[in-house]
Amino acid sequence: MPKRIFTFRRGAADRTADAAEALGLKGANLALLASLDLPVPPGFTIATSAWREAGAKGEGLPPTLRGDIRDGIEWLEGVTGRRFDGDERPLLLAVRTSARAQMPGVAETVLDLGLNDRTVDVLAAELSDAAFAYRSYRRFIESYAGLVLGADPSDFEEIADREQEEKGWETEPGDVAGWRALIGRFHAFVEEELGSVVPQTPLEQFMDVVEASFRSWRNPVAMAHRHLHGIPESAGLAVTAHAMIFNERNAKSGTGRAFSRDLRSGISRVTGEFGLGTGAGAAIGVMPRRLDLADLANGRAGEFPADLAELTAHVRRLEAHVGDAVEVDFMVGDGELFLMQSRVARRSAGEAVRIAVELVGEGMIGEEEAILRIDPASLDELLHPTIERGPDLVVLGRGMPASPGAASGEIVFSAERAQAVSAEGRAVILVRSETTPEDIHGMHVAEGVLTIRGGTTSHAAVVARGIGKPCVTGVGSLRLNTETQTLHAGARVLKAGDRITIDGSSGEVIDGAVKLMRPALTGDFATLMEFADRARRMGVRTNAETPHEARSARAFGAEGIGLCRTEHMFFEGERIRAMREMILAPDEAGRREALAKLLPYQRSDFVELFEIMAGLPVMIRLLDPPLHEFLPKGESEIAETAAMLEIGAELVAQRVAALSEFNPMLGHRGCRLAISYPEIVEVQARAIFEAAIEAGDATGKAVVPEIMVPLVGLRKELDFVKARIDHVHRLVTAERGRSVDYLVGTMIELPRAVVRADTIAEVADFFSFGTNDLTQMVFGISRDDAANFLSTYMRQGIVERDPFTTVDVDGVGELIAIAVEKARRTKPDISLGVCGEQGGDPASIAFFEQTGLDYVSCSPFRVPIARLAAAQSAIRANRALKGRSRRQDS
Ligand code: PEP
Ligand code: MG
Repeated sequence: MPKRIFTFRRGAADRTADAAEALGLKGANLALLASLDLPVPPGFTIATSAWREAGAKGEGLPPTLRGDIRDGIEWLEGVTGRRFDGDERPLLLAVRTSARAQMPGVAETVLDLGLNDRTVDVLAAELSDAAFAYRSYRRFIESYAGLVLGADPSDFEEIADREQEEKGWETEPGDVAGWRALIGRFHAFVEEELGSVVPQTPLEQFMDVVEASFRSWRNPVAMAHRHLHGIPESAGLAVTAHAMIFNERNAKSGTGRAFSRDLRSGISRVTGEFGLGTGAGAAIGVMPRRLDLADLANGRAGEFPADLAELTAHVRRLEAHVGDAVEVDFMVGDGELFLMQSRVARRSAGEAVRIAVELVGEGMIGEEEAILRIDPASLDELLHPTIERGPDLVVLGRGMPASPGAASGEIVFSAERAQAVSAEGRAVILVRSETTPEDIHGMHVAEGVLTIRGGTTSHAAVVARGIGKPCVTGVGSLRLNTETQTLHAGARVLKAGDRITIDGSSGEVIDGAVKLMRPALTGDFATLMEFADRARRMGVRTNAETPHEARSARAFGAEGIGLCRTEHMFFEGERIRAMREMILAPDEAGRREALAKLLPYQRSDFVELFEIMAGLPVMIRLLDPPLHEFLPKGESEIAETAAMLEIGAELVAQRVAALSEFNPMLGHRGCRLAISYPEIVEVQARAIFEAAIEAGDATGKAVVPEIMVPLVGLRKELDFVKARIDHVHRLVTAERGRSVDYLVGTMIELPRAVVRADTIAEVADFFSFGTNDLTQMVFGISRDDAANFLSTYMRQGIVERDPFTTVDVDGVGELIAIAVEKARRTKPDISLGVCGEQGGDPASIAFFEQTGLDYVSCSPFRVPIARLAAAQSAIRANRALKGRSRRQDS
């Protein structure tokens, strides 16, 4: 049987591999502190393996575990010299739950477990303080009833208020009879209203608390958190119990938090705070005196009730052990110092980067270690635009800064409207009272989210941070009238379509679309990126089609364009007209005529992209989406198009109907369009070659365009399209009297393309995995409809992560690996990349590194994240390789 109970005391702790996994963060941490001979209260942790044995069945604690727990308590009684239910010096416990990662929603700490109607008086005598003992007992009853019996804390408050009104007992803290009467009321309430009792036997209290703590894993908040952070349901909880610190409330007592560094500057010096008299006493009413640790160190150490030098030494020792800035929660009980918990110091993304770079400068860690220290996703905080502040900024309201960055857009009041307006290419800010899971699709398309209610952990905040959108929550001064669809800021009334700006870093809501500034990517950030670029193997390109995107991506360090979706270039103004004319033309001649109008637009777009990328690779994808996406929708648009083209509205309507498909994503799209209408490819290829010559002349750097054919499943599809491209190349070469080097390749988006990758590679210069479509096609799940049920799948643990965000390694990933192997067998030096959304996702990037892809391509804002994630993946892969070869050698 696996070991279930792991004990710890200063100088000794039961060891286990992968401590956080087995003992939870708190249990693992106390074991670490104990093993470093730091002063911790003695205790033990019930491991996650016990949760697995017990929790899965939901039938209470198995007898074997109960037996182990009894042994653990006996051990603790021996170590502390205190006994559960003792006649003197009763053993009291603090009980905490934790998992391998932070887990909001699970059971909170239960303090003073072991108090009952008798031991409360023993404690009162021991401390010569009845009020303190009874307050502790009251708090224990409330925690027990809340956790085990599901009681509402406000019920107990009401009882106490009534009691106080009737008797005024709390004004006399020494009034033991008054306290007993209150506790009696609590017992009566538990019996009558909750149909239960608070056990008087400490062991029984403990078993109940452990069982309820295990159950709390299924709390909806915890489940939602796991779902959002991709933590598997099987991870499980550990329960840690340790002896209470006694006499924690007298003049020589208190609690504090110390940091090993000044987080703002990164400089090494102990900082933090200590609250004198903030033990359990403070929680129940004693006003603390707050002392600044850095001030105390400057000649006022005497004011600290324990040995400040000892605390400093402990904190330094921990920093040296962890090799990173740490924060330490400590307690002083009657002059004696205890460390309660330590962690790598929490910090903002900016502070994290500064500290990592500083530690490298001090020689404390190497570049690789610094790279591994930073969560790539956290860089998001540093990459978002900020507001350019001027005197005429009109602040409509202030709320919580819930997700960083600033954004402007038109107000929309529903997720549906957000989708509709953004589909027309306009930026929107989704404004809701608060958001629910049904709003997620609207949040995805919005530039930012504003909720009138909520805080920094409300649904909107958590989701917005997850998807990297600015968000402001809880703007109490704004009023949302859902009936009139208006937003009221004092006398100012805003309606849908009015523009606002939100600043998710300051919490401000500002009238109008304010100018935004790009983030500064210099200093420590740039240094960290240099470390990353030295360490990574894979290239990082960007998905971009507008000059603005291409420029931002370059500033973020993109090494080229991995996907230019040309269809996006056909929507603006005149272009959509010519596009519609082309689609609606009755024959090839009509199509060619319309395409000739599009040629100059395409060419100038490409010239601009090539110039911005100045010699870096640019991969241009031929037209991909089903044609009806470009067609007029609704009667008025049809009438407008008919007038423009000087044909009957009926004819337009007929053509639109003829082009409609039952399953457009499986229909007439991708290279199928090129095969039906080769003239489209010819014009696109011409635009690319002519632009390459022009931009090459302008920048002096030869452009080698990479032309990508979408949705190929058959080698002959690629043969057909490539022949057209080659033909146009010959024409342009003859016309211009000069030749452009170019590559032709394909996306791998269909299972058939994977299976035939070896033969397709015979004609392709490169492959780029289109993991959006590949995921859709492999799962048979429509990428546009998946949100409706994938969240249920994740809640039920059927899938752990959204496969459209993080590549499904076992299915889609396996296919990618097969295609890579087959492609390289045919053409060892074929260039292989990925351009689906997963290309910017750190977990997916780790997989692409293992699979040996040459580069990833992602949206501009994810480029630095991808650079860092690629570096981390390369470092980890190298270390794993070295580990393997060492094992083989020995
Ligand atoms: C893909 O399918 O992964 C891809 C990049 O193409 P799109 O998203 O344009 O279909
Ligand atoms: Mg695709």
